[in-house]
Amino acid sequence: MWDLIVIGGGPGGCAAALRAAKGGLSVALFEPREVGGTCLNRGCVPTKALLHGAGPGCDWPALAEETARVVSTLRAGQEKQLQAARVQVIPHRAVVTGPHTVEAGGETYEARNILIAAGSVPARPPSPGWTPRRGHQRRALSRHPPRNRLVIIGGGVIGVELAAVWAAAGCQITIVEALDRLVANLDRELSQGLAMELKKSGVEVFTGASVSRIEPGPAVVFTHKGAEHTVSADTVLAATGRRPATEGLFADGAAPELERGFVRVDGSFRTSIPSIYAIGDAIGGAMLAHKAEAEGIAVADLLLGRAPVRGTAPIPSCVYTSPELAQVGLTADQAKAGGVPVVTGKCVLGGNARTLIEGGKRGFVKLVFHKETRALLGACLYCCRATDLISELTLAVSLGLTAEQLLRPVRPHPTFAEAVSQAAEAGLEALERG
Ligand SMILES: Cc1cc2nc3c(=O)[nH]c(=O)nc-3n(C[C@H](O)[C@H](O)[C@H](O)COP(=O)(O)OP(=O)(O)OC[C@H]3O[C@@H](n4cnc5c(N)ncnc54)[C@H](O)[C@@H]3O)c2cc1C
Repeated sequence: MWDLIVIGGGPGGCAAALRAAKGGLSVALFEPREVGGTCLNRGCVPTKALLHGAGPGCDWPALAEETARVVSTLRAGQEKQLQAARVQVIPHRAVVTGPHTVEAGGETYEARNILIAAGSVPARPPSPGWTPRRGHQRRALSRHPPRNRLVIIGGGVIGVELAAVWAAAGCQITIVEALDRLVANLDRELSQGLAMELKKSGVEVFTGASVSRIEPGPAVVFTHKGAEHTVSADTVLAATGRRPATEGLFADGAAPELERGFVRVDGSFRTSIPSIYAIGDAIGGAMLAHKAEAEGIAVADLLLGRAPVRGTAPIPSCVYTSPELAQVGLTADQAKAGGVPVVTGKCVLGGNARTLIEGGKRGFVKLVFHKETRALLGACLYCCRATDLISELTLAVSLGLTAEQLLRPVRPHPTFAEAVSQAAEAGLEALERG
């Protein structure tokens, strides 16, 4: 009998397994594919490596090789850590057959607790004519960029990052997005800035556009502002979101409560079956690696009887285009919609020394403060290193720091971080004005 069985070796499952094993629990981790999950093998890491190296005239086979090297180095490190912590990695797909039992590779395994960290898989676009090829996601990140013309259905984070990679390779790209803006889960100004930048690099963007069918060829047929458009392409990429990988995960009668396929959990990540926990993409919410990891660590601490040290909210969101986008907490629109009184403080980076030195693009830092408590509720960044700068603001939001407290540290010059001080000052002025 294992203390803990973890199903899925992505960032959530690995973090939980390592923490629990280091704390003295016996842990078996089931993973039929590569350790590291979507994030390391098909998601976060390869896309960021490609975005880092992509550019006019870049040597694509060399970039793909470098990307593969980064992935395999990280994977080897992860495998070593699991081995050192004595986590037993079992290379089989697991099926939960009861509150304490799992079947895999023809054998039954028992555990005091089971953690579902099975992640997610690409959602199929609801368009007639869509015939996915197996492994299309991995191929999307492989050696050869599409020859000439690419249509991306879906303008969420994955769609826009891949558009940025291939636009840099000189492909003609069309993004077709059903909602009224790109990355619609982020602040409106971030969406506008991103759309402008993509258009400048030659990407055609249709928002509020509904794909009616995909014709052989292939060609994507969609309606936009009442007119029908047809765009033919060498390649069509669906980036229409992801769905939980819970199909076939539970034997009949052994499933905890699910909601649209996502495993339902309480505030401690416990499912409707007390011995079964679930985390990461499989439970929905922000489908992000750092969320999965934080939740995995929280569950391990809980099983070890430790007070949780790592938080699980707020979760920052990042887009690694140029300039980068990052956001945490509430946007001003969300606050207003929820009846929360807020003011914003904004700094445009046109006059930021570091931006000018590095020839960076114009951007902004926008902070959202509660009008009465003066606490920072949220932050949106559109600038170089936004994805690093957001950590300082995530700390500030999680501690409920006020505008005055945000202004206490002296930030070094010349840095992008100086814009945080300036935005906080603008926020303070807005608060004083009432
Ligand atoms: C192209 C792309 C880019 C992304 N970029 C980012 C980014 O920059 N930053 C970020 O934070 N997030 C990013 N994400 C999202 C991120 O990859 C996921 O949120 C994260 O991997 C979720 O972690 P997880 O542990 O919940 O699941 P996963 O990483 O999906 O891992 C789940 C694992 O479970 C295994 N599994 C499934 N079913 C079973 C079973 N029955 N038995 C045993 N094992 C099973 C799977 O094989 C898989 O390895 C990106 C995703 C994609 C697709």
